Amino acid sequence: MAFCRNCGAQIHDEAVVCVNCGVAVEKPKTAKEDDKKSGGFAFLCFLIPVLGLILYLVWKDDYPLKAKSCAKGAIVGVIFGIVGSIVGGILGAVIGFTTFSMLDESMLYELEEGYEYLMIHLR
Ligand SMILES: [Zn+2]
Repeated sequence: MAFCRNCGAQIHDEAVVCVNCGVAVEKPKTAKEDDKKSGGFAFLCFLIPVLGLILYLVWKDDYPLKAKSCAKGAIVGVIFGIVGSIVGGILGAVIGFTTFSMLDESMLYELEEGYEYLMIHLR
């Protein structure tokens, strides 16, 4: 809810004229013409969430829609980053464990032989 600057009556946010006194309602802040949702910036901020945070803080007053796009992109980027690192960690552990269990005794024996061979010839 907004209030009329002339008479102080409560008026609807979308109202153009005050119903109480008839004076034209001044919009506190009109959105700038070049403010619009930006998929490009959202994607950029998805890739660099820190940039998204900075752009959001810089634009939130003058370009609310653009700032929102940046914030959304940054949030999704952060979530993806966290999920990605968790999945990457689990994947790394699984691959490491699988490789380790694939090393059966004969392979270890070969490795041992190779090591001994190296030690003999390095002396
Ligand atoms: Zn009024």
